[in-house]
Amino acid sequence: MSKRKRNSAPIKDQITVGEQELITYQSLFSSEESKSKKAKNNFIGKLLKINAWQIILTSLLYIVQAAPVYIMPICSANIINIVTEAIKTGNMDGVYLQLGINLGVLAISILQNVPTTILRYGIVSKLIRKISASIKCMLVRKLQLLSITYHKNMQKGKVQSKFIKDTEAIDTFITNLFQSLIPNIISVIVATIISLYTSWMVSLFFVVIIPINVTLMVFCRKKLRMAARDYRVKTEIMSARLNTMMVMMPITKSHGLQQVEINDLDHTITDLAGSGIKMDRRIANFGAWVWVINVLLKSICFVFCAYLALKGIIGVGEIVLFESMFSQISNSVTALVNCLPIFTTGMESVRSVAEIMHATDVEKDYGKPLSPCFEGNIRFENVFYKYPDTTEYAVDNLSFEAKKGECIAFVGASGSGKSTVMNLLIGFMEVTAGKIFIDEKPLSEYKLTQYRSHISVVPQSSILFPGTIKENITYGLAHITDEQINKAVEMANITEFMPLLPKGLDTDVGELGDKLSGGQRQRITIARALVRNPRILILDEATSALDNISELHVQKAISNSIAGRTTFIVAHRLSTIRDADKIVVMDKGKCVEFGTYEELMAKKGKFYQLKQLSEMETNSAGVEIE
Ligand code: ADP
Ligand code: MG
Repeated sequence: MSKRKRNSAPIKDQITVGEQELITYQSLFSSEESKSKKAKNNFIGKLLKINAWQIILTSLLYIVQAAPVYIMPICSANIINIVTEAIKTGNMDGVYLQLGINLGVLAISILQNVPTTILRYGIVSKLIRKISASIKCMLVRKLQLLSITYHKNMQKGKVQSKFIKDTEAIDTFITNLFQSLIPNIISVIVATIISLYTSWMVSLFFVVIIPINVTLMVFCRKKLRMAARDYRVKTEIMSARLNTMMVMMPITKSHGLQQVEINDLDHTITDLAGSGIKMDRRIANFGAWVWVINVLLKSICFVFCAYLALKGIIGVGEIVLFESMFSQISNSVTALVNCLPIFTTGMESVRSVAEIMHATDVEKDYGKPLSPCFEGNIRFENVFYKYPDTTEYAVDNLSFEAKKGECIAFVGASGSGKSTVMNLLIGFMEVTAGKIFIDEKPLSEYKLTQYRSHISVVPQSSILFPGTIKENITYGLAHITDEQINKAVEMANITEFMPLLPKGLDTDVGELGDKLSGGQRQRITIARALVRNPRILILDEATSALDNISELHVQKAISNSIAGRTTFIVAHRLSTIRDADKIVVMDKGKCVEFGTYEELMAKKGKFYQLKQLSEMETNSAGVEIE
């Protein structure tokens, strides 16, 4: 897949995310209960700490950039005072010079705004994009670390929602933190200092605005948070539901159940919309109150300043100064308070992403590398396995041995534990008790990723990604020769349907659509398994989903493939395992019979019964396989 073209950003806009940075950003998602208030403080606190230098630099730049906002009222007050004084006294000495100085200061402060704004936004934008990219990269890494059991239990739609919607909400949250929260805090501080310097009496008035807004915030916070959480959970449900709808599409259509799906989806969608309306209403209520209170206070302050000017405590020019400073503080406080809904939604998303970041169901992979002369001898010794939250053992005291190059078949009723045995062998789960030996060393001592590079698995359903047949076969392999590919293609019996492929192996799987039969798809999967030249080959019901003709073709591919590898075949149709060296018959997690085909047939036990049943099935299907 790596060969596909990407539409990349220009080099100067590219960012790199190093592994060390990822480790640093990982600490943002604190491990303690993410519901607690502490988690929020931790997230913001750590975020600020990690980026302390950039924050200090951009804050300084912000003060310079926003200077005209403060200098303008000061100069305006000066100009008004100069003019009123000149009119009152009739003395014009130095008036034009003073007006000129004020204009000059104003002009310089305004002009510097262009370079400082560009510089600051450049730094902030890169910082935000980098954090955002790091969070996504961390999620991808974590998803790859999590066990198969975790992925089986986690709905795909939910993961997508977390990856796309939640990271977007975190982006908005961080953007607001840097672009709104920090600048507005600076604004409040600067405006307060200027006001205090001019008149402490009016400044006291300003101080009132902060506790009133904070009270409002505390009052509304819980309701906003509840609404945000409800909306987030419903978005995930909707995403998961949509995924199920797409998976079920063939069944839905073939049973004429479209209306049932439509009604069900309608319900989920309207439920989400209702939750959205509730959240919007709360945000609007909150915003309206904040605005009304601040504008009311501003009007009162204006009249208060006018009163002070009348009494001669402050100049007429200062009315304009305070009016501007009050507007500045009030706008900043409003902006800060309005960050609250964004922060609430953002923190909810931080929690949502943390659910994945702190999932403990990861594969432990700190074993040692395999020896270079890895052979593929396998031994199960009194292995037990119980799935979490279940009472019965799915594998119950299982012992068997498979020597290098042998083919071992597993048979038994559905649910008897065959796939669980295969998954234990791959290392997807750890045994509850007992040991699995690979080349006489416990599996737990191996480095899993490396061990698995020697295993190939062909599952029941062929998993193909959009791309060419060749890309599907060579998935994840960078250096592979055409000769190796052709050998695998030959062994997997793909040559049989090659004439149907317009561009041969370069035909796009998607282009063929439904033209590829189940058996043909499965043979591509087998070629993918073989091209790796694995020491261990696992075929878990590889032919069960196929019709008899396809099965014959796939069976031929399997027979070609097993020579020289330790092979495990889980088979539903017993005719397919005739050539296995040994057969393990499973029942309720236990091995009830073990031996060669002939031995087990002669024994006339469980295997014999299964074989009779299997034959009846085959005969009733009217096709002779053997
Ligand atoms: P088989 O492959 O022989 O059909 P499995 O190995 O899939 O059987 O299942 C063995 C038993 O373990 C069954 O009872 C099944 O219900 C149970 N089982 C399988 N997967 C899980 C799981 N993820 N969580 C809980 N129980 C499971
Ligand atoms: Mg199975």
